[in-house]
Amino acid sequence: MTAKQILPGATLGVLGGGQLGRMFCVAARTMGYRVVVLDPDPSCGAGLIADVHIKADYTDKAALEEMAEQCDAITLEFENIPSESVRFVADKTAVYPVAESLEIAQNRDIEKQFAQKAGLQPVPYYAILQEEDLQQASSEVGFPAILKSNTLGYDGKGQFVVTDFSELCDAYESVGKVDCVLEKKIDIRCEVSAIVVRNAAAEMASFPVSENQHRDGILHMSIVPARVSAALTSQAIENASILADAMSYVGVLAVEFFVSFDDELYFNEMAPRPHNSGHYTKDACVTSQFEQQVRMMCGLKPGDTRLLSPVVMVNMLGDLWSPDWPSIFTQSNIKLHLYGKTEARPGRKMGHFNVLAEDVESALVVAEGVFNALSEK
Ligand code: ADP
Ligand code: MG
Repeated sequence: MTAKQILPGATLGVLGGGQLGRMFCVAARTMGYRVVVLDPDPSCGAGLIADVHIKADYTDKAALEEMAEQCDAITLEFENIPSESVRFVADKTAVYPVAESLEIAQNRDIEKQFAQKAGLQPVPYYAILQEEDLQQASSEVGFPAILKSNTLGYDGKGQFVVTDFSELCDAYESVGKVDCVLEKKIDIRCEVSAIVVRNAAAEMASFPVSENQHRDGILHMSIVPARVSAALTSQAIENASILADAMSYVGVLAVEFFVSFDDELYFNEMAPRPHNSGHYTKDACVTSQFEQQVRMMCGLKPGDTRLLSPVVMVNMLGDLWSPDWPSIFTQSNIKLHLYGKTEARPGRKMGHFNVLAEDVESALVVAEGVFNALSEK
């Protein structure tokens, strides 16, 4: 079946107006689409770029209806948009990714089960759905372990490293006894992510795998090409493609993996949207992940994902504010991206920069030097 193509001049919508929504808006407008964003925050970064900003809550039926009426297709910027809202608009216009894909990615236990069924290997874990499960979880998983809430976690939020049963009980108490998973804390050699895209006609493409370094549970740097074997990068891409196919996924799908010291690839989690670790594609690939998001929801062919240059992406968090701006412009091979956020808070993602160089080693030297200089005052 060939899906209907939605062409420039049409109107696209995005649920969520943070940085991912903003970069989607830029890509869509660049390609000649009108854009409508729905986000309750009157000063959200995407609202400044969109043609129309509907300032309403994600559960506001009248607002969702207004959005659906205006849009030929709708996408979302993050997985925690209530899936009932997605179903509600999907009755009226095309929405990608679909609510079923979203519901898998919204829940850690469900996404791990799904990945496991598809043949991927999650880190050993045990689902905690009631207090009585704590004992069994601790004996199955062992310590150290990480307790993660099943839903609504991001950037390390809702996670606790626990080293014994009493710490586990305390952590369970402090997450409010919500459904959780207890995961074995493994020794990680490095983390990688694979981003694949798929349209309704099942045409797919994959971006080069990125190597991701975190600080305090938040992505700090992505390095591309990843410094792992070719066998591992193909395995990561293949695993992500398997998941996309298994969900009949339409859109951009990012999958995070852990690489152990014996080169085993473990599935960590997936995101049904462009991902922070794919921001390097904006400057270093023929097609960015945000252009792919537009292409996939519009039923267009995937764009070329070729890497044009080795690249290191560095996140700029609120902790850096105000950065020493001149340091970033001392180098001609740095591309700065800011998200239009006026209030800087520690841990808040304010922007990123991409360093393009002959090889990742030189890009890393520049990236680290500039990152340090930005915070020196
Ligand atoms: P989030 O949804 O906040 O991104 P993740 O599950 O990806 O949550 O965890 C954030 C980071 O914490 C990971 O990128 C990794 O660095 C570390 N981490 C998470 N789970 C494990 C684990 N089982 N073993 C070791 N480190 C982990
Ligand atoms: Mg993660």
